[in-house]
Amino acid sequence: MVGREKETLRREMLQKRKSLSEEEIREASLKVCERIKELSSFKRAKTVMLYYPVRGEIDLRPLFEEVLRDPQKVLLLPKVTRDGDMLAVELAEGTPLVKGGFGIPEPAGGRIFKPEKIDFVTVPGVAFDKRGCRLGMGKGFYDRFLPRVKGVKVGVAYDFQLVENVPCEEHDIPLDLIVTPSGIFERGG
Ligand code: ADP
Ligand code: MG
Repeated sequence: MVGREKETLRREMLQKRKSLSEEEIREASLKVCERIKELSSFKRAKTVMLYYPVRGEIDLRPLFEEVLRDPQKVLLLPKVTRDGDMLAVELAEGTPLVKGGFGIPEPAGGRIFKPEKIDFVTVPGVAFDKRGCRLGMGKGFYDRFLPRVKGVKVGVAYDFQLVENVPCEEHDIPLDLIVTPSGIFERGG
């Protein structure tokens, strides 16, 4: 039963993430930001979707600044709708963040971009493997969103979150790259 395997791995990984210190989170996050900044796909991207970090996820906020400063780029963040969809909403300079569904901060307002218009999207998760498989929080938001994204899909993780084998199902959308503090892993590479 894939569902049960997912649940076991999810619990184990969330436990480990919970035990990280502020300092460990900051250090790992800065390394991941540096790696992402050097990716040619990131440099080329005009529309960049990041995410707001919750529950000890890798913190990409230094990249928010980077993208906002670049006049060629638009910063997008996820917004969860009442009917359980995920939208990509622009975070323009000066737009406040407000708590949305699940209490996660999202832009108070802003242009909505179609997933097809996104050049580069970072995807948080609980565990990943080198085939690009991803385990999320169990709600399938990104699995429903990513099929429409034509740009580069990048999983973001701590080193311990990159495991040998993530239980994968038909509906799980593989990522093109996984970035951790210690490296960049290409799908199937
Ligand atoms: P996560 O990716 O968050 O770890 P799962 O991959 O287990 O979680 O997906 C959670 C649930 O989301 C699935 O059991 C399924 O019901 C739903 N789901 C995933 N992808 C789709 C899809 N493309 N269309 C409809 N429902 C989906
Ligand atoms: Mg999934």
